[in-house]
This record gives sequence, structure tokens and C-alpha cells, in this order.
Amino acid sequence: MNQTNNIPVSFEFFPTKTDAGHEKLIAAGHVLAAENPEFFSVTYGAGGSTRDRTRKTVLQLDSEVKVPTAPHLSCVGDSLDDLRNLLGEYREAGIKRIVALRGDLPSGMGQASGELRYANELVEFIRRETGDHFTIEVAAYPEAHPQAAHFESDLKNFVRKAQAGADSAITQYFFNADCYFHFVDRVRKAGVEIPIVPGIMPITNYSKLARFSDACGAEIPRWIRKQLEAYGDDSDSICAFGTEVISQMCERLVEGGAPSLHFYTLNQAEPSLDILRNLQGR
Ligand code: FAD
Repeated sequence: MNQTNNIPVSFEFFPTKTDAGHEKLIAAGHVLAAENPEFFSVTYGAGGSTRDRTRKTVLQLDSEVKVPTAPHLSCVGDSLDDLRNLLGEYREAGIKRIVALRGDLPSGMGQASGELRYANELVEFIRRETGDHFTIEVAAYPEAHPQAAHFESDLKNFVRKAQAGADSAITQYFFNADCYFHFVDRVRKAGVEIPIVPGIMPITNYSKLARFSDACGAEIPRWIRKQLEAYGDDSDSICAFGTEVISQMCERLVEGGAPSLHFYTLNQAEPSLDILRNLQGR
């Protein structure tokens, strides 16, 4: 059987501001649950801006949609008491996995006021408070974190997170499989063996993607940019081209040893499903 046929997958959602958006998210969750994902995850607004909505979404996906769901948790702007309380609530609700991040405070929220400065400190805190209860995921940046002085210092900081007790990592999205292979190779040479799961961003809207990629340091290769620009407002062509490009990249990633794929769904089922159908020849 082709390796891409049974590659494990996970899906990420963001908590919505409206009830209608939330209903759509839950509906997408039901559709994606049929793919038998390893887990769902739900993002967290740094500084606690989505604390209640993240918790509500996590608990509903976990208990109603019945896919084990991991809350993201970020440490900038949250006090140790906030973090301790949330961890306790999740633990009590039977949540077993956490995505541990530093986070970025939204502009306008002022200086970071949390007691922990970096994700490695949050991983240490979670281990200290809850032992081995949670499987801890951390973020990885094959193209280097946008604030990192250079690749080597960022790599060292990634290694700190693994040494602090992270079990696994999910990467920032990228459009160039070679940067993933290079990153994994360098991490292994640094003696770290935790799984590094590629984060996959389906392409559905060029202007949003370009803006977001600039901010998070994901490079859109010129040949992809030029083709997407040429499609203008023709969203069917953008989606069709995007699905093809991302499916081919996923195939290379899986053939090159990626342990699973984590989809940034943006709360929509179809774009991720289109890629999975391509990979599985459905
Ligand atoms: P860190 O690992 O702490 O790194 C941040 C920067 O500091 C890097 O430049 C690093 O090199 C440097 N650094 C790290 N440790 C040290 C140290 N000990 N000393 C000195 N420098 C150090 N953001 C949200 O707000 N909410 C989310 O839900 C969310 N989910 C995400 C999920 C994934 C899979 C990914 C890849 C990113 C996510 N983000 C989220 C974005 C993330 O919060 C930002 O990229 C943030 O800027 C860095 O978070 P981090 O956990 O990678 O930070």
C-alpha cells in the first residue's frame, strides 16, 4: 500500500467570535472526524483573549464530536495562576494533550505581562505541575521563527523545548518540503528524536495567505505566488491549483519520512479533505 494512504492526520481549529461561526466549526469537526484523526487542536489567543471560547470549543469537540482534542496554551500575558487553573480544568475534563506555546500578544494589548517568557519555560511548568499527564506538543519553524536572529539560535531554542519535556512538535506551515527535511536533519544531529509533524496550510485565498505568511515568516515561492496572482478573483482556480501543489508537497513529505500531517483547517473541512483525497487516490 502507498505510504500516503494511511498517514495519520490531525486538524487545527480556531475559536470563533459568533455562535454561527461556532456551529460551522462543529459541523466541520463532524466531517473531519470521519477521517479518524489522531487529534483535533484549538488555538488560544495569547493574553487569554480567547480563554473561554477555546475551552468551550475544546470540550465540545472532545466530548460531542468524540475526537481527542488538544487546547493550545500560550504563556505570554497569562499569570501562573491562570495557567495552573486552566491545566487543572483540562485535566479534570479528561484532556490528555496540550500544544504549549509562547504566543504573540495582539497589538494593543501592551507588553507581555506573563511570568513565563518562552515556550520552553511553559513546557517545564506543565511538567512540574502535572507530571506526565499531558502529551505536550510544541511549535517548530523549519524556516526559522520570524524574530529569531538566525537559524542556529532558533534551532538551539527548539532543542530546549524538547529537553524541557515536549513529546512532539508541529511545524509552522511552509511551501517547500526541503526546508522541512533540512530542519529534521539538523534536529536529529542535535540529538533530539521527538516526532516533527509538518503543519499543512491548504491554499484557498491568495491575499489572506500572503498577509499571514509575511507575518509568520512562511515563504511563498515565487512560482506559486505568480500563479496565484494570475488567477485574480478566480477562487475555483486558486483552490484547484493550491490543492494540487499542497498534495504534491504532502506526498514528498510522507515519502521522505514525515510521521503524520497536521492541517491548519481555518475551520473548513473541504480544503483539507481535498488534499487527503488526492493523497489517498480517492
Ligand atoms: P518560543 O519557542 O518561545 O520561541 C519564540 C522566539 O524566542 C523564537 O525566536 C526563539 O528562537 C526565541 N527563544 C525561545 N526560547 C528562548 C530562550 N529560552 N531564550 C531566548 N530566546 C528564546 N500563537 C498563538 O498566539 N496562539 C496559538 O494557538 C498558536 N498556535 C500555534 C501553533 C503552531 C503549530 C505554531 C507553529 C504556532 C502557533 N502560534 C500560536 C504562533 C506562536 O505563538 C508564535 O510563532 C510565537 O511568536 C512563538 O511561539 P513559540 O511557542 O514558538 O515560542
